[in-house]
Amino acid sequence: PTTGPTAGLTFPVTPSAVPVPEQRRAEILAAPGFGKFFTDHMAVATWTREQGWHAAAVVPYGPLQLDPAAAVLHYAQEIFEGLKAYRHADGSVWTFRPEANAARMARSARRLALPEVDEATFLEAITQLVRTDEAWVPTGGESSLYLRPFMVATEAFLGVRAAHEVKFLVIASPAGSYFTGGVKPVSIWLSQNYTRAALGGTGSAKCGGNYAASLAAQDEASANGCDQVCFLDATEHTYVEELGGMNLYFVHDDGSIVTPELTGTILEGITRDSIIDLAKDLGHEVTERRVSIDEWREGVASGRITEVFACGTAAAVTPVGRLVSPDGELSHGTGAAGEVTMTIRNTLLDIQYGRAEDTHGWLHRL
Ligand code: PMP
Repeated sequence: PTTGPTAGLTFPVTPSAVPVPEQRRAEILAAPGFGKFFTDHMAVATWTREQGWHAAAVVPYGPLQLDPAAAVLHYAQEIFEGLKAYRHADGSVWTFRPEANAARMARSARRLALPEVDEATFLEAITQLVRTDEAWVPTGGESSLYLRPFMVATEAFLGVRAAHEVKFLVIASPAGSYFTGGVKPVSIWLSQNYTRAALGGTGSAKCGGNYAASLAAQDEASANGCDQVCFLDATEHTYVEELGGMNLYFVHDDGSIVTPELTGTILEGITRDSIIDLAKDLGHEVTERRVSIDEWREGVASGRITEVFACGTAAAVTPVGRLVSPDGELSHGTGAAGEVTMTIRNTLLDIQYGRAEDTHGWLHRL
């Protein structure tokens, strides 16, 4: 369904008649955790082959009515995004590089044969939803309002082809600090039984199916006492790709920084991309290239790799403390977060929370 996108939809607001009471909202915002509570409204728009995008609105949050034959429930024709709204000290609310999320969602749409949402419409959906539910943007610490744009094939049809009816939605969920009680290195399980994505597949698209396929590997990681799973390339089982929901960086003893190059099989993380610029600003040489699992192991063992960190919207920057596989276990550093990792982390968060000048023009006021 590649008929041209309808540009610049507006999202008129129908306020909820039964918003969460203020006191209950305050309780939720005091300890939101992640992804458990949702705001009073959601943005929604419908696409049909005949009409293109239409019926855009911000409406009360609530269940969707889906036909049991809706294509998404059978063939997983679905894509999503993840970004955050941050409250600054003066009370203002900002998103970080939302245009990059709009562009990535358009790329995902092309891969999943879904219609694109143009950038103006994507930004307007987010802006209207966050303005409507502004009281849900937490204050303090590293808290934020997590925004989840997504698109699902709603057409009731069991034939295997791109759906002729689709919905785009944005929901919002308050998120607490990822690390409560200080930044703590995570442990990584190296998946040897499973791969995440093959060339020509959907690895660089943010589609639900990629995450469904990663869950057994994540379960294996948990069963082995690890926080996260790391995937290797599907062809040679040699090159480090990414974690289940984060990209990876390697810091070398000469101050240079390496991240696995974009091969079409890893997700093009917006945090990853931002760190390339921030690390250069900080004087590091940054290289995107293939990194083998042997280079990782030997580098840490020899001291040539001094720090490893993961990055993504949810946790910003996370130090890696251990790499575990059936062959054994490799501890990184002292068990505390490394200096370069923490400097990059703080540089990024200072921009997102308005504590440092946004020299790259990444913030977008809502
Ligand atoms: N890789 C995967 C598989 C992810 O799900 C995510 C989270 N979106 C990332 C990397 C990091 O991307 P971003 O920095 O855009 O959040």
